[in-house]
Amino acid sequence: TLAVAPEGALLTAEDRHLEDRRRRVQLENALRRALDSGDFQVQYQPIIDLTSGEIVKAEALVRWEDPEVGRVPPDVFVPLAEQLGQIHVITDLVMREALREARRASVTLRRPLRIAVNLSPNDLNAPDFMDRLHRLMCEHPDAAQHLTFEVTESGALVNLEQTTRHLTTLRQWGFGLALDDFGTGHSALSVLQHLPIHHLKLDRTFVWGIEGNARQQVLTGAVMELAARLNVDVIAEGIETATHEAILRGMGCGLGQGYLYSRPHADPDWAALDGWPNVS
Ligand code: C2E
Ligand code: MG
Ligand code: MG
Ligand code: MG
Repeated sequence: TLAVAPEGALLTAEDRHLEDRRRRVQLENALRRALDSGDFQVQYQPIIDLTSGEIVKAEALVRWEDPEVGRVPPDVFVPLAEQLGQIHVITDLVMREALREARRASVTLRRPLRIAVNLSPNDLNAPDFMDRLHRLMCEHPDAAQHLTFEVTESGALVNLEQTTRHLTTLRQWGFGLALDDFGTGHSALSVLQHLPIHHLKLDRTFVWGIEGNARQQVLTGAVMELAARLNVDVIAEGIETATHEAILRGMGCGLGQGYLYSRPHADPDWAALDGWPNVS
């Protein structure tokens, strides 16, 4: 398809390349400004016990809306912040916000609630990462009991030995640990064997595939069994329908997250979301 320029002339591939380049520079500049001012929001999505409907934890998800470029999804700006060497700005902000929200939710729900923060491979490999976390714990002695870290398989594999060491220490300090996007990587099983994680998050593409797909159900069932033997809880991501939920529950999956229960919210009504029936 050929795009038409305002003057009516056809855009050449070169024009389009320049346009892409211009947009990318604009995005990068806007992101640099946001990183300087810490202009990000955090939303929270509950993680539900599939048998009782109770909220057992939640995930923090970063949001960015720029006055000029508009709302940009994290799948776009997180990798860009990584390339700029600035992801730690986002991680530190999300950790601190998540800690505040976890305290608030724990008061509302009258039981301790953890909130999960996504880590980038760059966080795990930054030379000062453990120092930053240690500082957070000195400032906020309740940080470890209120936070879980989510790492991806591919992130863990960048430097498996160092990641294993860091995660082992974090677990000793009392943080929760989850392996995110499980099933999308390549060497899932060997990673599981090494990492001292509490939870495994079954990627949403896995969840969406189980409806009416016998082979996918066999695979998912095998993951559940493996996780149970390794004493790791499975959290199913992206549960959108009652059918997804029923199949997963039938397979012994205890925990889930998805639009069926709630979309991410900046200021969730924790009490209203807790237990059946759920409101979104
Ligand atoms: P993720 O960690 O796997 O997060 C789950 C994503 O699935 C979120 O997308 C969430 O909104 C979405 N989701 C949850 N339930 C459903 C559902 O039922 N249906 C559908 N279609 N989607 C659902 P989101 O917020 O756009 O984030 C995308 C990815 O961006 C995250 O994937 C994570 O990799 C990254 N990300 C988000 N926040 C942060 C952050 O604070 N730090 C870092 N490093 N990465 C982040
Ligand atoms: Mg995650
Ligand atoms: Mg995920
Ligand atoms: Mg993901």
